[in-house]
Amino acid sequence: MNSYKDKLRKITPYVPGEQSKDTDIVKINANENPYPPSPRAVEALKNFNTDALRFYPNANATLLKEALAKYYGVGVENVFVGNGSDDVLALAFQSFFCGREAIAYPDITYSFYPVWCELFHIPYKTYPLDEHFRVNVEDYREKNGGVVLPNPNAPTSLGEGEDFIRRLLDYNADSVVIIDEAYVDFGGYSSVALTKEYENLLVCGTFSKSRSLAGMRIGFAIGSAELIGVLEAVKNSYNSYTVDSLSIAMGIASVEDEAYFRTTVDKVIKTRTRVTNELRKRGFEVLDSQTNFIMATHDGYSMKELFEYLKAKKVFIRYFSLPRIEKYIRITIGTDDEMDRFLAEVKSFLEDKQ
Ligand SMILES: *Cc1c(COP(=O)(O)O)cnc(C)c1O
Repeated sequence: MNSYKDKLRKITPYVPGEQSKDTDIVKINANENPYPPSPRAVEALKNFNTDALRFYPNANATLLKEALAKYYGVGVENVFVGNGSDDVLALAFQSFFCGREAIAYPDITYSFYPVWCELFHIPYKTYPLDEHFRVNVEDYREKNGGVVLPNPNAPTSLGEGEDFIRRLLDYNADSVVIIDEAYVDFGGYSSVALTKEYENLLVCGTFSKSRSLAGMRIGFAIGSAELIGVLEAVKNSYNSYTVDSLSIAMGIASVEDEAYFRTTVDKVIKTRTRVTNELRKRGFEVLDSQTNFIMATHDGYSMKELFEYLKAKKVFIRYFSLPRIEKYIRITIGTDDEMDRFLAEVKSFLEDKQ
């Protein structure tokens, strides 16, 4: 029997972190920033000339690209912007992973990668992280159709340094290497400077985490004019206006407010150190995070139970029921008050279980 249903796309989508309207909830499950966006970005929103919304945005988002080029010390021709870095990454997959060979990434990583591979029919292979959840760079010597790696990695929170990235690039001169730097501002090593040396390197970034603008959907990529040119061509074959006028205005204002950016990032890092120490004092193993979240576990306790216990107490964290990481929980760093509530509930969980 023929049916139109046979012609529909069958796909398993990415599952985003839970959202909730309940204001009483401590929401530390989606790696969002606990602080508001820069007051200058808020000002840009308030002063926005709404009459101008009848015009299409600048298809090139030139002013936002210029602000980012200045910030990162690269040329405007080295910057690409998109509707969140998920949009930029999806375009990059379509632009650079067009060979027959499988692209390579770790077994434990951002769970959107396999979804895009399936959507765009890109073959892929994964290499297991070692027992300490680190990436073994030697795995990536094997021939591949491309490489994608978050640095720092998610959900492990662990980052690699310049030596590692250089080796990865030296082994992969014949592939495009995408480094997803969604969390880099919280203490990771940034490969942006290496884009001047390696034409095949694309570095992706986002305003969603360190710049508190997840709701505006602003992402970007930095790379050689060659790679950026292909990204532009693919974007313009799909949707010329991926970044709206309001995102452009608020994005520029955010980039220009370096002082506020520094202050909020430093606050998150300080709270992360405190929470890490508190959890370790209570017997948790906590990985050394370079991100705005931490991965933790505790011998003798079920992390799934802790996750559910906290949920009942209106503290939302993330638990992945996946091989190798099912013993861990992922906790986004919130404000000090939020983390105090989290720590207090963790304490009562441990006491209840004794
Ligand atoms: C959050 C995140 C993104 C996506 O960020 P958006 O700009 O909000 O789309 C991409 N990669 C990783 C690893 C992330 O954690």
